[in-house]
Amino acid sequence: MGQAAFDIISPVFETEYDVVIIGGGHAGCEAAAAAARVGARTALITISAGMIAQMSCNPSIGGIAKGHLVREIDALGGLMGCTADASGIQFRLLNRRRGPAVRAPRAQCDKQAYRRNMQAALAAIPGLEILEAEVADILRRGGRVRGVETADGRRLGARAVVLTTGTFLNGVCHVGGRKFAAGRSGERASVRLAESVRSLGFRMGRLKTGTPPRVSGATVDFSRLESQYGDDPPTLFSFFNREPALPQRCCWITYTNPTVHRILEDNLSRSPLYGGEIVGIGPRYCPSIEDKVVKFKERATHQLFLEPETLDGETIYINGLSTCMPTDVQKEMLEKIPGLEEARVLRPGYAVEYDFVQPSQLRPTLETRALRGLYHAGQINGTTGYEEAAAQGLMAGINAALAVQGSEPFVLGRNEGYIGILIDDLVTRGVDEPYRMFTSRAEHRLLLRIDNADRRLAPHGRRFGLVSPERFRRFEEKWERIDRALDYLRTRRVDRRAQDLLGCESIPAGQPLEQLVKRTDWDLSRLSPLLDREGLRLEEEESVVVGTQIKYQGYIDQQQRDVERLGALEARLIPPDTDYGRIAGLSNEMVERFSRVQPRSLGQAARIPGVTPAAVSVLNIHLELRQRGRLPASP
Ligand code: FAD
Repeated sequence: MGQAAFDIISPVFETEYDVVIIGGGHAGCEAAAAAARVGARTALITISAGMIAQMSCNPSIGGIAKGHLVREIDALGGLMGCTADASGIQFRLLNRRRGPAVRAPRAQCDKQAYRRNMQAALAAIPGLEILEAEVADILRRGGRVRGVETADGRRLGARAVVLTTGTFLNGVCHVGGRKFAAGRSGERASVRLAESVRSLGFRMGRLKTGTPPRVSGATVDFSRLESQYGDDPPTLFSFFNREPALPQRCCWITYTNPTVHRILEDNLSRSPLYGGEIVGIGPRYCPSIEDKVVKFKERATHQLFLEPETLDGETIYINGLSTCMPTDVQKEMLEKIPGLEEARVLRPGYAVEYDFVQPSQLRPTLETRALRGLYHAGQINGTTGYEEAAAQGLMAGINAALAVQGSEPFVLGRNEGYIGILIDDLVTRGVDEPYRMFTSRAEHRLLLRIDNADRRLAPHGRRFGLVSPERFRRFEEKWERIDRALDYLRTRRVDRRAQDLLGCESIPAGQPLEQLVKRTDWDLSRLSPLLDREGLRLEEEESVVVGTQIKYQGYIDQQQRDVERLGALEARLIPPDTDYGRIAGLSNEMVERFSRVQPRSLGQAARIPGVTPAAVSVLNIHLELRQRGRLPASP
């Protein structure tokens, strides 16, 4: 059997699928669900069916910018939001006191419930089969993907394949000086598939991530720790979900101290990170504890969150203590942390190094340019995080199914959602360190709020059959209520009856109602009696949208104008056959940069790192001339 992607001459396939998804992680689940629901006959092939939707690291979904991604996934009809709501044991809205653009939901989840709920959701999707196998080869014919071959020799035909192998390609785990091949602790690495992918000629690299030790909840002394409770009422991910399905739990806070730091410093030479064993680049914003101690020497303590991984609290995840120190050092360090002195380690922290494929080799649909019909999504593209993976999986799944049907691809603009920003960043800039989403990556973040993700994206989800007619009707009704309330507040003024109803004589008659909403000492809830009288009753979340739209209207309009201004660049599409080497006036360096990314639009071309405004202008003139028929098409 070959260990490289190869051209098949006389294929005999056990089964023919439209779309095959390799991997049942967060990207794979969304990709499989989306492809099947768009209408493709789909198979999800994964090494262990029981581990589908495993949260490899932290037991939480969402957070700043990641919560935005989950809302967007939900608005498009993806599964992550509902699954997190059904599995959440603590919900918090982060940045509650900051501006509406950066507020974001986060949930602690019961990891087992998350897996169970996601697996049940997938099982209920018609047209989706789940197969337990290791894929060893990607099969191709004539520059197109043609299927996959499993390690046990089965050949499955496919017109599109979505590769979502996370940290598994050539995965190597490290605990102190001990290293072993694994995709994550206890699960075998994908070595043959890594060779198959490499043989397709992709530029690949090595990244690294790490995870903290897990300890037994029964052995932690919680009585000495600060508790952290969730919000009441909670903010859930999925639009229309109001109540968590599971009982809620608290988390606890503890701290490292100089003794812990000294233990780490004394043993730095035994860390694979500092001993030169690990070459992969790790996430800068999520450093290991040994990294934190070295890089922030001035800090006497670091905060740690103790988070239950399940409802029963049996396993506790120590957020902030990611490490790959030898197990004896991990134990010694834990013994010096308040509350953890007697803690029994269930699983030591470890680091994993893995291959990723440089995502600048992808089209904005996440299809590879090297092989038609092959899509990459998730951590294989150099991202970190469940949410980033799920967002890419959803888009790759939709596009794979659309391509099989011969339909137009689906690409989201940067002004339409964080998902658009994520994919544009990956394919335009590539990655040189693990990529995670931040709200600061968005140019127009007041337009991309968690509260309007449904307005921005649900129509797309409906178009592709991912959002049901019933759910879409509820979205439409909600936005009609919001628009009516906005119209009322913007066009009416305070009158005698309003003064009576609001019980506030000091409000001058004749003042526009929207002026009241703009006042810092007022919020929209004070106007509820008035809205109720007009039959414009709003739900809590709808009020937030109306209040935001009015209070921030000036900024929102400004960002909208920016979007329109930039829209011309985005709308100027570059024909895929453009030969940059033949464009007069472009330097070799610019030709190389454009050719490497092959931008879809002038807007994307302008965002390629190192591309100069002059080069964009030359390209623009070339496109203009070509459009007017004054230049021959490239041969
Ligand atoms: P995964 O969730 O890894 O799923 C990959 C899937 O592919 C698995 O189901 C696997 O069985 C399957 N698969 C692999 N090879 C094959 C094959 N040949 N055939 C069939 N199936 C195959 N993220 C953070 O944001 N912060 C962190 O601190 C963090 N720390 C991490 C620490 C560790 C130790 C690990 C392992 C991961 C960590 N992550 C962290 C990353 C997080 O787990 C990923 O971002 C996320 O799971 C990626 O989703 P994915 O779908 O791309 O891949």
